[in-house]
Amino acid sequence: MSSIFSQIVDGEIPARIVYEDETTLAFLDANPLAPGHTLVIPKAEYERLEDVPEDEAADLYATIHRLVPAVEDAVDADATTVAFNNGEAAGQEVDHVHCHIVPRFEDDAGGPIHAIFGDLPDLSDDELDDIAADIESQA
Ligand code: AMP
Repeated sequence: MSSIFSQIVDGEIPARIVYEDETTLAFLDANPLAPGHTLVIPKAEYERLEDVPEDEAADLYATIHRLVPAVEDAVDADATTVAFNNGEAAGQEVDHVHCHIVPRFEDDAGGPIHAIFGDLPDLSDDELDDIAADIESQA
């Protein structure tokens, strides 16, 4: 069973498509967090960001880069929150990589991405050094 977003790519279900090229598609979110809330996807179905091959990831970024100013201009937004819920624990509900472009306004009281998190972890310098070294060795 293909994802709901693949069904949009294939024209099987409707969407308000705002941009399309060979490898990417952008359309309005059906339950917008703000007017102009747009999703950008690779047409091919990958579950997580890290599953997207490098060339398609570059295409995806190019479309995000193109759509951010278009979305902001269309709804006269002051800014945008641009984010991926990458994995179920992060709130990803549709298993087809998608970037949220959410218009933001000076008075929208939405807060930054930091507002998602409660208490900050209390990490020692040694723990931070270990984490940095682990990430560096995997990168
Ligand atoms: P996420 O929680 O990051 O997986 O976000 C999934 C997003 O897809 C939500 O914001 C939904 O409102 C949106 N969505 C689900 N189905 C559709 C659809 N058929 N057309 C447009 N947006 C959709």
